[in-house]
Amino acid sequence: MTEDIRRCTRCILPENYPYVDFDEKGVCRVCREFDEKYSNIDWDEREKKLSTMLDRYRGKGKSKYDCMVPFSGGKDSTYTLWLLKNKYGMNPLAFNLDNGFAEDGVLAFVKKAADRLNVDLYTYSPSKEFLYEVYGHSLRESGEFCTACVVLIPTAIFRAADIHGIKLIAGGFSDITEAPPPEFAYIDRVFFWNIMKSRFSKKELAWDFFFPSWKRMFGVKYFNLPDYIEWDLPMIYDTLNRELDFKKNLSDIRYDCQGTLYSSYIFKQRNGVGKYEFLYANMVRAGLIDRAEALKIVAEREPDEIPVGFDEFIGRLHCDRSFLKENENRSIFDFKTRNKFIRKLAIKIREMLP
Ligand SMILES: [Zn+2]
Repeated sequence: MTEDIRRCTRCILPENYPYVDFDEKGVCRVCREFDEKYSNIDWDEREKKLSTMLDRYRGKGKSKYDCMVPFSGGKDSTYTLWLLKNKYGMNPLAFNLDNGFAEDGVLAFVKKAADRLNVDLYTYSPSKEFLYEVYGHSLRESGEFCTACVVLIPTAIFRAADIHGIKLIAGGFSDITEAPPPEFAYIDRVFFWNIMKSRFSKKELAWDFFFPSWKRMFGVKYFNLPDYIEWDLPMIYDTLNRELDFKKNLSDIRYDCQGTLYSSYIFKQRNGVGKYEFLYANMVRAGLIDRAEALKIVAEREPDEIPVGFDEFIGRLHCDRSFLKENENRSIFDFKTRNKFIRKLAIKIREMLP
């Protein structure tokens, strides 16, 4: 990590972060927006809304389940599952997707935790070879392989709910700590198809990367639990370690994907900012980790040189280093996309419906 770079005095975002500026105290735009957005939340009011919503789905409908929880085995989804089952008396289906890169031990934990919580577990594991080919093509064409996974995950979630006739999906995604910067993170299916069509047919990709009926999807409500209750991470780790033998804590290295180290390197090479950099900036901003400690972790985890194991990893995706040559000029934004306004409007309308 180059250290002659100017950084926000509160979080750790560097001056080359998109559209960043610093106020007279050296605090960045993202931190100021954060304060505006999160400083006046009435959590009691939010929790009341949550209770009302859950009442509407508990014991209703034709499905065996009241809701579905996308369950990666990370702290957020595990706590979401625990809370819905034990505090709110829901009967959730836990859904685990194997994207081909789960860290060792995660799948065993997922199974054990579902057993202990006495909830049904549904696992979907698409063929690894198929996924690696999709990731590889995405890497060569768009300069990153996460593109494909970002499309795969929500598709698999809605597909699983659709298969089980479930109308409510409860995610554990916390905007405050996890949200990737919108400046980099946008992707939709028009985009994705434009990247993929030189290699795959629509039929080959339809099941895993395109939504089932839009009409049925509109009948499914998706919400994130951390939008309704205060996401107290130290307390969450305590609870999970005590109740589910989680065996992790706040200072453990983040991300449950084997690809993150490599995707972060590629990302930084192209965008000048690494993935750990903005993830740990989020954590500092939320008061979960010390600024100095975050800088230390980022420096260790985000080397400027090609990380160990890189060739082997991209080899699994049938790629070699040749894609790196022109990678700085590549952008997923080169591919044609759908009108963002219409998409945002559709999401807003669905959020407002019960
Ligand atoms: Zn900042």
